[in-house]
Amino acid sequence: MNLAALWNYMQYDIEADKFRIEMSNSEKRKKLQKQADYIKEQQARFAKIEADIQQMDERSAKCKEEAERLCKLFDEMSAALSGIENMESEEITQKLQGAQRLLNAIEACEKEMNGLKSEADSAERGQVEIKRRAAKVKSEYDALKKEYDVEFAQDKQKLKALRDEADKQAETLDKADLERYKQIKQHCTPPIAKLVNNQCTGCFMTLSVGTLREIKASSEAITCDNCGRLLYSAD
Ligand SMILES: [Zn+2]
Repeated sequence: MNLAALWNYMQYDIEADKFRIEMSNSEKRKKLQKQADYIKEQQARFAKIEADIQQMDERSAKCKEEAERLCKLFDEMSAALSGIENMESEEITQKLQGAQRLLNAIEACEKEMNGLKSEADSAERGQVEIKRRAAKVKSEYDALKKEYDVEFAQDKQKLKALRDEADKQAETLDKADLERYKQIKQHCTPPIAKLVNNQCTGCFMTLSVGTLREIKASSEAITCDNCGRLLYSAD
């Protein structure tokens, strides 16, 4: 295994990786994500209020129906009072009490309807406010997105150049070496660590006497007992 060549390749590979990570951690990108989340959140709140208003409308319609039914009953009762002069006073009292109960019930319906109406009105005002705030953030988002898109296009080019450079270096490597490197990189990056003072500089574990002996004796590359990185001793 040509560790020196692999180590050289790793510098390019890591640089490209680092830049890719920087890109995905960009402050603008994070801010855009935050704004997009906020807008989504406001849309959900708006929809929730919309559903609440719908429910209030339905309840209000039921109240109205009930009030109409009660009014009709009241009209019938009023009509029945036309023969009042022939009734006993007890009957009159009963009928008047019945009428009063109806009036109370009608009043309660109206009160509920008024309550629902003002609740729905305030919910609608809430919706207007949500829309206004979401629109403000959306316009900030749009402006920032424009800037970000320009930067992103440039960064993408730069990343491609870095990656191309690394790929060019990779072409000079032994295929099996590169394969091994990629395998280790899947669970451990960077995949090669220097051996300094008998320590793996990837995980800072002091290597066992056995492993150190192996490194000295073998021409093959040895991996760290602890982290699995390829160990590169420059000397
Ligand atoms: Zn290690």
